[in-house]
Amino acid sequence: MQRKTGGTFYWGKIPFANTLLYCLCLLLLLAAPSCTAKSLENPLMGLSPENPAEEGTTEVKEEEEEIENPPAEQKEAAAIDEGLPRPNELGEIMILMYHEIGFPEDEWRRTPDNFRRDLQTLYDLGYRAVSLQDMVRGQIEIPAGTSPVVLTFDDGNKGNFNYLETDGEPELDPDCAVAIMEEFYRENPDFGLAATFFIYWPTPFRQPGYLETKLQHLVKQGFEIGNHTNSHANLSRLNPDEIRQELALHINETQKYVPGYRVTSLSLPYGAYSQDPGIVREGSYEGICYQHEAVLLVGANPAPSPYHKKFDPFRLPRIRASEIKTDGVGMYEWLEYFRTNPSRRFISDGDASCITIPLSAEQNLNREIIKERDVRLYE
Ligand SMILES: [Zn+2]
Repeated sequence: MQRKTGGTFYWGKIPFANTLLYCLCLLLLLAAPSCTAKSLENPLMGLSPENPAEEGTTEVKEEEEEIENPPAEQKEAAAIDEGLPRPNELGEIMILMYHEIGFPEDEWRRTPDNFRRDLQTLYDLGYRAVSLQDMVRGQIEIPAGTSPVVLTFDDGNKGNFNYLETDGEPELDPDCAVAIMEEFYRENPDFGLAATFFIYWPTPFRQPGYLETKLQHLVKQGFEIGNHTNSHANLSRLNPDEIRQELALHINETQKYVPGYRVTSLSLPYGAYSQDPGIVREGSYEGICYQHEAVLLVGANPAPSPYHKKFDPFRLPRIRASEIKTDGVGMYEWLEYFRTNPSRRFISDGDASCITIPLSAEQNLNREIIKERDVRLYE
């Protein structure tokens, strides 16, 4: 059965004729004001796959809406399609951390073919790429039954974005991360094209002559440029003025090549936080302002759903996209974990105007972030 309190819809297990359900729901939707729905202790927090490492204990070796509401009919179809995995928009999300793409395969380097295999594996398992910004803002628009995954690259290594020079003409290196993702997107457009490149200065991607071309290309393609400080600084060792300088100068340099571009996320070099966490969120140095919506750590768990009460955009854990020295908490261990524990995984209802979660998880829903969106609960 379903019943309604405010804008919250409860779904029972008993299947109903679609028509009856549709009519009933349409009536309820028409009558419902904006959603005031009120969810499960996040089951993954503090847990990990086999032999988990506590977050933060993984060695940091970095050097290493206005959403247009779809018709009510579509809403119902998305929510009750029994042929798809049950939606759970309070499940956890993997934010993958890559560094170099190149040779040979190493703890902090993925070969081009292994990176292609990562993308194919994610796609085959029902993951779809979403940008970090959309994830943090809770604007996750992927098909019903699929799960978001966020791709990030730290350090702006050459293999992230590289041009080959043959006969003096620059040609995109087909084995660099940007080319691989764009090619995968052409072949699988429903995977999406999204990633954040956390660069530092003076020479991101290590080819001085192509800086403007590369940064503008990234923005044009919908990739994000993220702050990784100006000089890859360990913020835990700097005083407040030095920290502000490191963060603001990055913005200043980036905007020289992409005027007006707004950097909204920070990846902490070495995963090292400043003693005063507030300094990294926003501040200014010599008139250059920075404001980050997301601050990314290094290890080693999936992130909570942006709709979960435990979601903290300023302490987002990431999963190392590697198969070497992963301490049991690398990308493939987590993929296996979610395969065998599908209830822990964020699964979309395909409807960005509505949040669908199990009734048992209702107490964990952060109603402030979902705002006027409807909430559907099922048993
Ligand atoms: Zn780094």
